[in-house]
This record gives sequence, structure tokens and C-alpha cells, in this order.
Amino acid sequence: MPLPPRAEVVVVGAGLAGLSAAVRLAAAGADVHVVDAADHPGGRLSTQVVDGFTVDRGFQVLNTGYPRTAADLDLPALDLGWFWTGAVVRVDGREHRVVDPRRHPGATVDTVRAPLGGLLHEAAVGAFSARAGYLPVDRLLAVPERSAEQALRRARVGGEALERFFRPFLSGVLLESELATSSHYLDLVWRSFVRGRIGLPARGMQAVGEQLADRLPAAARHWGTEVLEVSGCQVRTADGTTSAGAVVVATDPGTASRLLPGLEASAPRQVTTHLHVLPSSPRGVPLVVLGEPGGQLVNSVVVSDAQPAYSPDDRALVASSTLAPTREAEIRAEVARAQGVATTDLEHLTSVTVTGAQPAAVPPLQHRRPVDLGEGLFVCGDHRDTPSIQGAMASGARTARAVLRRLRPAVAQA
Ligand SMILES: Cc1cc2nc3c(=O)[nH]c(=O)nc-3n(C[C@H](O)[C@H](O)[C@H](O)COP(=O)(O)OP(=O)(O)OC[C@H]3O[C@@H](n4cnc5c(N)ncnc54)[C@H](O)[C@@H]3O)c2cc1C
Repeated sequence: MPLPPRAEVVVVGAGLAGLSAAVRLAAAGADVHVVDAADHPGGRLSTQVVDGFTVDRGFQVLNTGYPRTAADLDLPALDLGWFWTGAVVRVDGREHRVVDPRRHPGATVDTVRAPLGGLLHEAAVGAFSARAGYLPVDRLLAVPERSAEQALRRARVGGEALERFFRPFLSGVLLESELATSSHYLDLVWRSFVRGRIGLPARGMQAVGEQLADRLPAAARHWGTEVLEVSGCQVRTADGTTSAGAVVVATDPGTASRLLPGLEASAPRQVTTHLHVLPSSPRGVPLVVLGEPGGQLVNSVVVSDAQPAYSPDDRALVASSTLAPTREAEIRAEVARAQGVATTDLEHLTSVTVTGAQPAAVPPLQHRRPVDLGEGLFVCGDHRDTPSIQGAMASGARTARAVLRRLRPAVAQA
């Protein structure tokens, strides 16, 4: 449906940031219209069905420890399937389960025996987790900022724990292996792992955006419509021009800096995910298997162990990710080793490289970047807060408040 010629607010982009802003604006009574170039809401949380399997566009998870996830989503309606909190570490061909003993007490002995440098180093990991999980956020952010690696070393996490657990685990989260990411962001991410659980919606990650979009009136949703230009408070598409009281640019950072010249975009992080099918699950335990030092894989995970609805039958769906773009043939043997199966057992389903998966969050972490650009123009997205579902949703909430301050000062103060 084309945009109307006039609207109170136009939101460009129906990712979690744009949708979070739009839902709040609609709830406050604004005439808001959301326009997206894609044919579905959710942005980077995108899902396809391939040969009956539910395939997210890159391995990604929903973390219930994010404040906005917990507050703004109807989690039961997403029918989440859960991962265990932790990972499988492989050393010299042997597997070790490293888990949060509070959640999985049955695997505590495995965790203590894992070759991560001995009890003192494991205690350091516990102390690091307790600090990130339970200190108030303002105290975490008051600590001098460094790189994630420097922060882990200062927390006395030893070399074995760093190389065998933290580096591959965090590479899959931060999408970089140098651990050059801000220690402040590491603290916030680790906090969410300590406080929440990670899961997959029964209908795939796109269901998160669809849930938010369903809270908007049908007439407010305009998918499959690319915005070509934003000029002042005018939005141009192939169908014509819409004049608005406020325009919110909620696209990916690259498009935002094209539509809003002068806006700086953080460097994008990329990831390649290969999907394979196995006749059955090798372990039946919903744990991420970490890549080994020197390998290309950052992780390999049987997603259908966490969310059985991702598979149409008893076969297992495996998602294996690399930071550098790889071809399936290059990583097949490594996936087989990680899953403890023969290469011939793996049936390649599909592969995807997402070049703009997340903006980098190197020091200084500039979360809460300005969203009100003046004269009715606003910007939101993960690049204004933190490169995550939490960051996108928080920036959308913050932007909605800023728009209301301009358009409805009385509502914004209420
Ligand atoms: C493979 C992968 C794994 C990830 N893993 C995790 C994870 O496990 N946990 C986590 O918290 N985060 C993860 N992320 C990051 C998270 O998905 C993003 O931070 C978040 O979804 C960004 O939301 P957004 O609304 O800011 O941007 P986007 O989702 O990019 O939304 C922007 C929207 O703008 C639209 N658009 C762009 N240009 C135009 C235009 N010209 N006209 C109209 N519409 C336009 C796009 O179609 C898109 O829908 C992952 C991302 C990827 C890709």
C-alpha cells in the first residue's frame, strides 16, 4: 500500500528500532506510517523456510536478559525453544561442556573439569560474571573503558579460558575475533547472558518483528516500498512524496548515512552462516559448539535441539558460522569435526553471508548517540545505541520519546 501524501510521522525502516518507535507513537495516538523496502517487518531478523526447515538469515538468538526484550515483547507468544547457557569446548578432539552451573547443575562437574586453566581461573570467570550480572549498570559504565580482551585479562581470566572459551564464544556474539570491542559493551552483553536465557521463536527470529508490527494498524504498514530520498520532512518513494510532521530514519547504518548526509556510520561487522541437515542430532543437548583456535568456524550449533520446530521432522538443522566469507566446501570438514559426524552425513541446505550484520562497538562506546537531528528529523537503530536487539529496541523507544516531545509535548511529559 503506498504512503499517503500527508502523515504526522513517517518511520523509514521496519527493523526492531523503527517498529519499537512506531508502536509507541501509535499508542500515543500519533498518525504514524512505517515504510520498509523489504516485503516483511523485522529487518535483520529475517527468516525463510527452505525445504521445510526454518532458516534465519544468519545464526542469531533472542536474549531474555535484554531489558527491552523482557519489557516490550510477549515472550510466551513467541513459543521460545531454549539453549543451555554455556558452550561445548573442544580440545584435542575431546568435548567439554562449560555451562552456567546455576542453571545446569547436572553439568557442573564437566565444567569444573574443563581444561580452562584450573580452579583459580574458573573462579575468575565466575567473579567476572557476577560483577557484570549484578553490579548496577552505571557502576559498570563508570569503570575505565578498554578493549574486551584487556578487560578479561584484568579480570584474571587466564590464557586457556580466553582462547578456548571467551574468544570463540565472543567472536560469535561480537562478530570479531580480536576482542577489540569496548569493555563497556562486553559488560552489558555479558550481563544479559547472566540474567537471561537465550532462545529461538518457533516461527524463527522474524517472528519478533512481526509481533511488534502486528501492534500497528494495517493501514500504517507499508512493506515492499523503498525510500529513495529524505529531504527535510519529506519522504520520496517511487509512488510519490509524503510530507510529515516528523520523519524517523530507522534503517541500517549505511542507508541512514546515505539518506542523512553527515551522519557517521560505524564500520559493519559481517558473518557467514552455513546450514546443514543431519539425519538426527549428534548430542541432543542444546549447546553451541565453539570453534577451535586456528580454525575458521566461530561456532556450530544444532538449532533444532533448542527449537525443534525449526526442523519439519526428526532430522537436525545445524548452523555453522565464520567471520570471514567462506564457501561450504571449505568448512564442511570442520563442521563435521565440531558435530562429531562424518562429512558425508552433512547435507548442505543453504549458506548466507550478511555483510552488515552489526555495527562495530569499539571504544569509546557511543551508546545513546543523539537521535533528534532537529527540524523534525530523527534517526534510530542499533548504530545509535548498541549493536544488538536490545540496542535497536532501546533506540526506538528513545526516539519515540524525542518525537513526542516535539509533536505532543503534553503527552511526552505524562
Ligand atoms: C546474522 C546476524 C546475527 C545477529 N545476532 C544477534 C544476536 O544473537 N543478538 C542480538 O542482540 N543481535 C544480533 N544481531 C544484531 C541485530 O539483529 C541488530 O542489531 C538489530 O536487528 C538491528 O535492528 P535495526 O532496527 O537497528 O536495523 P535493521 O534490522 O537493519 O532494520 C532496518 C530496516 O530498514 C529497511 N530499509 C533499509 N533501507 C531502506 C530504504 N531505503 N527504504 C525503506 N526501508 C529501508 C531494511 O529493509 C530494514 O528492515 C545479529 C544480526 C545478524 C544479521
